[in-house]
Amino acid sequence: MAKYKPSTGKTPSNWGYRGSRHVRGYGAAWVKLRDWVMEHDQYLCQPCKRAGRVTPATEVDHIKPKSLGGEDDADNLEAICTDCHKAKTQREAAEAQGKTIKQRIRYDVKGNVIWPD
Ligand SMILES: [Zn+2]
Repeated sequence: MAKYKPSTGKTPSNWGYRGSRHVRGYGAAWVKLRDWVMEHDQYLCQPCKRAGRVTPATEVDHIKPKSLGGEDDADNLEAICTDCHKAKTQREAAEAQGKTIKQRIRYDVKGNVIWPD
């Protein structure tokens, strides 16, 4: 039995924090929606299904990423497997990075790229 140390009266700022299950913005409504999408897609990865493969889905993905204005809406969600999700996330990150680099890129008089540091 651990000894109970009386609190000094101040609640710690991380009080009640129990990891990623309750990430901000992902409450009960999201869990319900996610379950609905999973059931609707018969727990099969949709990108795999479109490619003619049958793969069990492990998560629900935003077809249009939230960073691009995608909503937590059944129309914007589909069941996806870990591999497809990873590939999609990487592709989106590369696209986002590509945009950033294009905006930040500079050239010197000889046309060489100057990387901002
Ligand atoms: Zn897949």
